[in-house]
Amino acid sequence: MRKFKKFYIEITNVCNLACSFCPVTGREAEFMKIDDFHKILDQIKPYAEFLYFHVKGEPLLHPELDKFLDISYQKGFKVNITTNGTLISKVKDLLLDKPSLRQINISLHSFDGNQNMNHKAAYMENIISFIKEARKKTNIIISLRLWNLERDNQINLTNNKNREILTVLEQEFNLPYQIQDVVISARGIKLGERLYLNQDHEFTWPGLGEPEDEGIGFCHGLRNQAAILVDGTVIPCCLDGEGIIELGNIHETEFSKIIESNRAAALYNGFTNRQAVEELCRKCGYRKKFGTR
Ligand code: SF4
Ligand code: SF4
Repeated sequence: MRKFKKFYIEITNVCNLACSFCPVTGREAEFMKIDDFHKILDQIKPYAEFLYFHVKGEPLLHPELDKFLDISYQKGFKVNITTNGTLISKVKDLLLDKPSLRQINISLHSFDGNQNMNHKAAYMENIISFIKEARKKTNIIISLRLWNLERDNQINLTNNKNREILTVLEQEFNLPYQIQDVVISARGIKLGERLYLNQDHEFTWPGLGEPEDEGIGFCHGLRNQAAILVDGTVIPCCLDGEGIIELGNIHETEFSKIIESNRAAALYNGFTNRQAVEELCRKCGYRKKFGTR
C-alpha cells in the first residue's frame, strides 16, 4: 500500500491576508465540518500519518481548530500547521496543549507580501513570544520561512529586505553571527533546539496561464504527497490550489478508489517515466526542482 509522507488537508480556504504572490482562489469560501474531517481521516488512515492543515487559507482561522487537533490525536495522526502567524497569540494556549501538533511553519514572508500590514514589530513580538513558550513547554518543531528572495543572491545582499526580521531573530535567540539575507540551502539553518529558518526564492503557484514546457521531469505528487481541498476534492499535491487536477471527491467516491482511478494512475505512471502528463504539471516550477532530464 502506498504511504504518503505528507497529507495535506485544507481545513479552510479562507485567509485573513491577501499576499501579493498568492493568487486569489476562485473556489467558494468554506470551513471544513467536523463530520467531513472524521470521514477523511478514516478514509486516509492506511495511507498517511502526518497531516498538513494547509493548501490555501489560514488554518488558525478555523473556529474548530481545537477539535481538529484532538480528533487527529485520537485517530493517531501527527499534525503540521503552516500559518502566516498573524493569529498566533490568539490561539497560543490551544496550540501548546495539543499532543497531536508536531510542527508549525510560520511564513514570515507574508508580512512583506501585504502592503497594508504595518506593525512588523508587534507581529514579530507575538511570534517570538510563542516560540519561546513553545520551546519551553512542548516539543513542537518550529520552522520560520522567508520565501521572498530573488534567484540572484547578489541582488538579495543589496536589497537586504528581511534585515529587520533577521535582526530580531539574532537578538532574541542570542545568535553569535549575523544571518545573511540569501538563499544558501533548501534545508535551512538551525537557530536553536527545534527552531529553524528556511530562506528561499519567492514561490510561484503553478497555473494554467503559466508557460508550458515539454513536460520532461519528475515530481513527488501522488507519490509521497496528496491533498484534499476543503470541499472534499482530492488533488495530487499542495500546489494545485484551484483543484485543477481534480482526481475525485471523497463525498462521492472512497479515497482508496480515487487514487486508483485512471487519471491518478496516468499522473503517477507518467512521473515514473519522467513525463508530466497533466497540463498543470507541465506549467509547474516545482517539477523543475527535481530536474527536467
Ligand atoms: S500565502 Fe498564505 S497567508 Fe498569504 S494570502 Fe495566501 S493563504 Fe493567505
Ligand atoms: S508537477 Fe506541480 S502541479 Fe504537478 S503534481 Fe507536481 S507539484 Fe503538483
